[in-house]
Amino acid sequence: MTAAPEAPAAAAIEVLATAAATGATVVLSGHVQPDADALGSVLALAEGLRRRGAQVCATFPGPFRLPASLSWLPGAASLVPSTEVPAAPDVFVSLDASSPGRLGELAGLLDSAGTSVVIDHHASNPGFGSVQLVVPDAPATVVLVAELLDGLEVEWDTQLATCLYAGLAADTGSFRFGNTAPGTHELAARLLRTGIDHAAISQRLFDTAPFGWLRLLSLVTGRAELEPDVGAGLVWTWASTAEARECGLPGDQLEALVDVVRATEEADVACVVKGQDDGSWVVSMRSRGATDVAGVAIALGGGGHRAAAGYSSFADLQTTVARLRSELAAGVEH
Ligand code: AMP
Ligand code: MN
Ligand code: MN
Repeated sequence: MTAAPEAPAAAAIEVLATAAATGATVVLSGHVQPDADALGSVLALAEGLRRRGAQVCATFPGPFRLPASLSWLPGAASLVPSTEVPAAPDVFVSLDASSPGRLGELAGLLDSAGTSVVIDHHASNPGFGSVQLVVPDAPATVVLVAELLDGLEVEWDTQLATCLYAGLAADTGSFRFGNTAPGTHELAARLLRTGIDHAAISQRLFDTAPFGWLRLLSLVTGRAELEPDVGAGLVWTWASTAEARECGLPGDQLEALVDVVRATEEADVACVVKGQDDGSWVVSMRSRGATDVAGVAIALGGGGHRAAAGYSSFADLQTTVARLRSELAAGVEH
């Protein structure tokens, strides 16, 4: 991990420090269907700014529902739905959102706020907002938030460190992914020194699911298809929120499926096509290294990182997978 370029971090710190010192209103949001990095970033920065004197409102785009794996994060109870945030705050902070579209109905605040600050680490981020701290080399957005908290001279306690550690562990696959660097471990060490219970955090994030999860896994892994000739090899399967419910699970339980499928050694790309209640599909892709799935996702209307990316499809399942196949094949030909 390289450090964030000094100038962009300094600009963001200045805006936030001034907002805090003057008791300004600050709205913070993560991306739609927030994950641990988005929520950890929002909650840690919101709490830091609150302690420094800002009038803080932490939110995320609808649906306003948190998965059980994240609802325990300290400060989560203080999150408010997007309908309850001031429409024109002094400052709007976007965290872990790779594009305005990922902010859903909150994207308008980028323009209506006095200043909009965009904190992100997606390679596909086109650059938006009036002050940008976008560092694709950062393994997680919480890494950038940690730097901002230091800049704001907010002391890290277990509440803040729990939020930061959750995002860091999630986006690095518990320090297994290629985005993990010496600085990532140094940050983790600093977080652990605050006294957080990292084992309990990881267990809640990654290793806790109702028994019905095993039933869902068997269905979804049982119908996985291996297509070794597509690109550098594709393994894919599908699932739906309705099916999750039949197994007694909330729809967000589909998110963890791709982490099982991506172990397939014969396929460089793993994909889970997740059927939503409205009939659309949300596609999650992971690469074992040879394929830039962010490029594939961008071509199909989404975004992400080289090794983890996604997009939405409004076609039927067959057409959705056919388009994915041809995009992966085109990637090999280029
Ligand atoms: P997921 O498969 O949902 O865990 O997402 C993997 C990565 O791709 C995350 O970094 C997401 O932020 C990003 N991503 C997923 N869906 C989209 C989308 N529709 N547009 C932009 N980025 C996305
Ligand atoms: Mn995220
Ligand atoms: Mn992230």
